[in-house]
Amino acid sequence: MSQADNAPPAPQTAAPTLEVVDIHKRFGGLEVLKGISLEARDGDVISIIGSSGSGKSTFLRCINFLETPDTGLVRIGGEEVRVRPGRGGKPGIASHKQLERLRTRVGMVFQSFNLWPHLTILENVMEAPVHVLGQNKAEVRDRAMALLDKVGIAAKRDHYPNHLSGGQQQRAAIARALCMEPQVILFDEPTSALDPELVVEVLGVIRKLADEGRTMLIVTHEMAFARDVSSQIMFLHEGRVEEQGPPSKLFKDPSSERLRQFLANHL
Ligand code: ADP
Ligand code: MG
Repeated sequence: MSQADNAPPAPQTAAPTLEVVDIHKRFGGLEVLKGISLEARDGDVISIIGSSGSGKSTFLRCINFLETPDTGLVRIGGEEVRVRPGRGGKPGIASHKQLERLRTRVGMVFQSFNLWPHLTILENVMEAPVHVLGQNKAEVRDRAMALLDKVGIAAKRDHYPNHLSGGQQQRAAIARALCMEPQVILFDEPTSALDPELVVEVLGVIRKLADEGRTMLIVTHEMAFARDVSSQIMFLHEGRVEEQGPPSKLFKDPSSERLRQFLANHL
């Protein structure tokens, strides 16, 4: 963490970095999220686990409003984005300005990397800070180079994404998210599209971010990794939080029979 060694610890009453309250989401007749809430404090790493279709991706996408929740609110850095009834009874967002600010504060890393194919790796990392935030190009360039170095692909900066391995592309996508200087980073199965030998290099980068005290939510099927890096584990089942707690409790002594079953299949 960047906190000076002699700084007093943050009081427990400090507002959470990220607060998500009672998110509901339905696709047609299917209620995918049935009221999910979460609080992440500075430096928390919360891993979200659960079977395919349990709502993990939809939940992450609702946090930065890639999907509009039907009801609920997201608060980050003291600012709140709340869903209100919009036109024709469809959910609307309180303010588009708020939504823009929220999106700059919440970074996202996808399973499929989603790099721009026509931009080099360095250009990919620089794109949003320069063109969305309007930041100084020379400064962004310095920051981007340092981040590519940090994730171990500085030598690839002038290559195009399709010339990189999946692991290298995902590390570039992580550098791109970091370059926006977000307060929270969301990872949606960041290693699921990778060949097994490339998984470890990406998990290594995420582990380093956890050690630095970054606040992150990680959807993953890598249970050993989740157990090692997380401060909290959230187990979703059919759109509800079935069980939540520290990894030492959930992995050793789950209360829920469903979680017990899930772990038996995934550990
Ligand atoms: P997970 O990430 O846990 O596998 P998802 O959040 O992707 O689960 O999906 C939860 C449920 O919502 C699934 O039944 C899925 O088919 C459905 N779903 C997700 N996105 C959409 C969408 N855009 N339209 C309709 N149904 C969707
Ligand atoms: Mg998913």
